[in-house]
Amino acid sequence: MTAALYLARFHLKVRLFDSGDARIDWIPRTNNVAGYADGIAGRELRQRMRDHATRYGVQVEDAEVTSLSVGDEGFSAGVAGMTVAARAVLLATGVVNHQPDVADGRHDEALARHLLRYCPVCDGFEVTDKRVGVFGTGERGVKEAMFLRGFTADLTLLPPADGHRLSDNERAALAAAGIAVADGRGAPLVIDGDRIVAPTGDMSLAFDSIYPALGSTIRSTLAIAAGAVASEDGCMEVSDHQETSVPNLFAAGDVVYGLDQIASAMGQAAVAATTIRNRLSEERPLRR
Ligand SMILES: Cc1cc2nc3c(=O)[nH]c(=O)nc-3n(C[C@H](O)[C@H](O)[C@H](O)COP(=O)(O)OP(=O)(O)OC[C@H]3O[C@@H](n4cnc5c(N)ncnc54)[C@H](O)[C@@H]3O)c2cc1C
Repeated sequence: MTAALYLARFHLKVRLFDSGDARIDWIPRTNNVAGYADGIAGRELRQRMRDHATRYGVQVEDAEVTSLSVGDEGFSAGVAGMTVAARAVLLATGVVNHQPDVADGRHDEALARHLLRYCPVCDGFEVTDKRVGVFGTGERGVKEAMFLRGFTADLTLLPPADGHRLSDNERAALAAAGIAVADGRGAPLVIDGDRIVAPTGDMSLAFDSIYPALGSTIRSTLAIAAGAVASEDGCMEVSDHQETSVPNLFAAGDVVYGLDQIASAMGQAAVAATTIRNRLSEERPLRR
């Protein structure tokens, strides 16, 4: 939305395709976007950005791009049975977090009630001194728990379904930081009143919030299909102007390796859009 807004205000013709499945919609209320001191729901922020872009003539089309290729004449994208041509493309396709099982299909309720949280950078502040679990293991689980230690001393690393994979060094580091480790095998989480319960082996532990640390799927298949280089886990590798290894193919937001935050997605989008404008102008001067 940010890139489309910039491009439209540069008097370029923009088409924005959105399959309508955004991580920003998962945010019950964000409190770290500057300018919204009382917080704002992710959905509302997205709608405001969409309205803003639309005001400057962006066509937002609710459709999924299913293919992307590059040839001598530029890019061809497959959308709803049509082929759309473009001189430059920006992908801001995001990631999808892997979710833990929550009994009775109550994942979304747990998320809405802050019993599940996915982003310590975003909302660690809100769990200050609360009782918190981290559902995960290995390097990812340890890193998440260590990060959260800056907010609360009441922290437990909870095992996934197949149990912990922790080295002696990792266990020692957790112990030194005062982070408890629950062993056994994880089972579906359970909402119990205003707490969320993690059954592990023969114990059940109740928390104010649990952070799943189960990784995510990076939505970079279109960029990779077009020949762009991605990291081993699928994050797009970009230049400091957000350009992928394919000329005129740009990427911004969570799909790019880096800090997965709204502020950084917007900043990357602004850089990418301005670079696209300048690049197109070099190829063919932009004049009114
Ligand atoms: C629970 C939770 C809380 C969070 N809280 C905060 C917070 O407080 N502050 C903060 O800064 N960040 C927060 N985040 C992170 C934030 O949501 C992301 O960093 C941000 O949404 C990234 O924006 P994005 O545009 O890269 O991806 P997304 O918001 O995921 O948007 C990607 C868009 O691309 C579309 N798309 C994907 N593939 C296609 C395709 N093939 N064709 C067409 N459209 C496609 C999707 O439909 C979607 O609309 C939170 C995340 C979660 C899960």
